[in-house]
Amino acid sequence: MPDVDIVPGRGQVLITKPIAGLKFKGIFHFDKGYYYFREIDGRVLFGGGRNKDFDAETTTDFALNPDIQDDLEQKLKEIILPGTPFEIETKWAGIMAFGSVKQPIVKAFSYKVFGAFRMSGMGVALASEVATQLVGLVSERH
Ligand SMILES: Cc1cc2nc3c(=O)[nH]c(=O)nc-3n(C[C@H](O)[C@H](O)[C@H](O)COP(=O)(O)OP(=O)(O)OC[C@H]3O[C@@H](n4cnc5c(N)ncnc54)[C@H](O)[C@@H]3O)c2cc1C
Repeated sequence: MPDVDIVPGRGQVLITKPIAGLKFKGIFHFDKGYYYFREIDGRVLFGGGRNKDFDAETTTDFALNPDIQDDLEQKLKEIILPGTPFEIETKWAGIMAFGSVKQPIVKAFSYKVFGAFRMSGMGVALASEVATQLVGLVSERH
């Protein structure tokens, strides 16, 4: 689909080992949402930092970016868990899809081919609504 307005955006993520007496629960973000973290099963899941190097992270290569991973670790230590010892269990990278606008693409590409994609890193939040729109589009055409 060469004419589709879509570019990859890689996201760096890490998760700690369980932290005894972790003092918060919930889901948080900062720096316009470029960094996000939450407690899960007594661990901290922390991701983001794509805005530190948009060019390097505009890729479909599933690789760690050491500069951004170091930045995440430093922010975890200084902003989220100051004074609390922690260990990182796993680090990884995932690929999201972005375009010139935030709206997903929901479109008929031919009589039989339909697409719903480009969730701008909000696939969990948007997927059920986008799926409903896609089903509507398919039933209109058939
Ligand atoms: C870095 C990053 C941050 C994100 N942040 C957010 C966010 O804050 N909010 C939000 O709403 N969305 C976010 N998303 C998007 C969200 O993660 C995805 O939209 C969502 O996970 C897609 O769900 P899925 O079930 O379709 O696929 P996945 O969650 O990818 O699940 C597919 C599963 O299938 C497994 N699998 C694949 N192939 C095989 C096989 N052959 N056999 C067996 N198993 C297989 C995979 O291992 C995986 O567990 C983010 C994505 C990334 C990459």
